[in-house]
Amino acid sequence: MSQQTILIIEDEKLIADWLKTYFEKADYAVQMAYDGRKGLKMARELAPDLIILDLGLPSIDGISICDQLRDESDVPIIMLTAKGSNNDRIKGLEHGADDYIVKPFDPKEVLARTKAVLRRVQGKVQKSIVCGNLTLDERNQTVSLNGSHLPLSQAQFALLATFMRNANQVLSRDQLINLAFNNSYDGFDRSIDAHIKRLRKLIHTDDFQPIQTVYGSGYRFEAPA
Ligand code: CA
Repeated sequence: MSQQTILIIEDEKLIADWLKTYFEKADYAVQMAYDGRKGLKMARELAPDLIILDLGLPSIDGISICDQLRDESDVPIIMLTAKGSNNDRIKGLEHGADDYIVKPFDPKEVLARTKAVLRRVQGKVQKSIVCGNLTLDERNQTVSLNGSHLPLSQAQFALLATFMRNANQVLSRDQLINLAFNNSYDGFDRSIDAHIKRLRKLIHTDDFQPIQTVYGSGYRFEAPA
């Protein structure tokens, strides 16, 4: 993967430089702006992969920058906020920041959050997953089998997406529920079997069943040849 660019907009030069060193060590390209106006200009011109944005900035504050950028793009933004200022944090997220970090912080945490946000964003923009004759489009939430649209329920779609992302791996019922429903599943774990049974009927072709039962462990999705 080519080097990703991080834009740091932070007026406290010590913090900005310190972060820059950290990101560069982790093999990111780093650009800096020490005030809001310049930061906004650079964000537009450079189209960075992610922006670290301080809330309190000279000329244009972080919230206004966040607002303006959100009107124009989906660039991931991590907001830096002052300690104990709960309002600032909520405000940042309300204005479209992807995450926030409270000062003073450990640069390791900034790096970890950055990686997590970038992973999330890359997952979102990934257009489709193809496994043999099955194509799953995550943006439109559609699935086709041999080019024909499959009418899936939301639960079936979430399960199939999880299987296809983890093809050829054994997944326990617990893992399936966590991965597919983010723990927001309100059925019993055995009721997942009923969803899978219906899903199997829909994706079954020519005597090939991609979803295999692994006795005592769970299920495994085998990509059709
Ligand atoms: Ca500041």
